[in-house]
Amino acid sequence: MAKLVFLIVDGMGDRPIKLLSNKTPLEYADKLNINSTLTHAALAFPSVLGKLAPESDSGVMADLGYDPKRYSTGRGWFECLGLGMAPTEGDLSVRVNIAEAAGSKLKSVRTYLSKEEFAEIEKDINERVKLPIEFEFKAGEGYRGGLIVHDGKGRLSQFVSNNEPGYTVRFFGDKKLSFASSTAKTKIPRIKALKPGAAFTADILNRFISESKKVLLKSDVYRKRKESGQPLPNYVLLRDGAVHDPKLPDINERYGRRWAAVVGMPLEKGIALASGMSLMDIHELDDLSEDLENKAEYVSKAMDAYDAVYVHVKQTDALSHLGKYAEKYDAIEKIDKILIGRILRRLSFSDGDTLVVTCDHRTSSDLKRHTNDNIPVLIANKKFGSVKEFGETECSKHHIKSIKKATDIMPFVVRL
Ligand SMILES: [Zn+2]
Repeated sequence: MAKLVFLIVDGMGDRPIKLLSNKTPLEYADKLNINSTLTHAALAFPSVLGKLAPESDSGVMADLGYDPKRYSTGRGWFECLGLGMAPTEGDLSVRVNIAEAAGSKLKSVRTYLSKEEFAEIEKDINERVKLPIEFEFKAGEGYRGGLIVHDGKGRLSQFVSNNEPGYTVRFFGDKKLSFASSTAKTKIPRIKALKPGAAFTADILNRFISESKKVLLKSDVYRKRKESGQPLPNYVLLRDGAVHDPKLPDINERYGRRWAAVVGMPLEKGIALASGMSLMDIHELDDLSEDLENKAEYVSKAMDAYDAVYVHVKQTDALSHLGKYAEKYDAIEKIDKILIGRILRRLSFSDGDTLVVTCDHRTSSDLKRHTNDNIPVLIANKKFGSVKEFGETECSKHHIKSIKKATDIMPFVVRL
């Protein structure tokens, strides 16, 4: 069977930037490998979530063919699954940040911890936090963790707010998505019940927050960091609790191919697992070049055993949030050179193989946030003629008309 590589570069799309001669970072970057595919490629320019600016969970779901408004029961499900926990129907699965607050004001949404520090904190929270029902807290990388609250009596509800002030939840029937607020808020709210029947859940989560705070303040990690003047872990931020299994239709059966995922972040791992993909055993590496080399290696391994590979690169989004547009186009050049270069060596377009390069949403380096702009998509396959360039402007002018939404990409490419 012909191979398919589906590369999602997080927040790669952007808006024109004055200092880049009014080009976007994607347009400005030298992309020798991408350019080599343009003689047999087509472009698409779909919307991800209409007027809403998507978060990564909805963007990735949509790119993989799952309508977020139909399937998302809350990001916490995927986050916990990606951390190696076992989210279960009826339990509440929540994304956790270890953060720093000053009183009830947020100082930083993330306090980066070493592996050893986070392991100590995980142990302290699991042993010392007292709740009327069972729970499990798990440390991930840096500052990301997961929380699963077990009830077994059907009392838990997803209809609760977040205490991370930067993210607001929205419901579509019983489906749940969260969105970043456009204004920076620092006051940490209490978690509220948003529908009748959710008061029990809000109360449990608020108790977890206040108990964790006490445990953190008494921890050795906190004491040592305070002595040495480092950022403090003194607060937990909870968001996007999910009670229901999103029940994503199995991607292997849906599209008649066996899929592997080369992804390093918990969210992306969780979505890959929930869709039925096999996960290659990799970690996200901080150094971009090393991360790309590592992912290229695993894509190559995955292609020996699978028909389709989903690859994700995170760093471009983080750079956009910091407004670092020059580092962003530099990162896109590295992705082209290291990762796409090695992918192309393994693909045979004459045998009908396909490469897709896209993003989960656009992130504006000027605005330092995600936007609702349509996303650029490159589809390289021998069935197509040539296109001039891969970039937002060119995609907006010359694109496959039948790909209107991001959820249209996957059904289109698997039929090539
Ligand atoms: Zn993203």
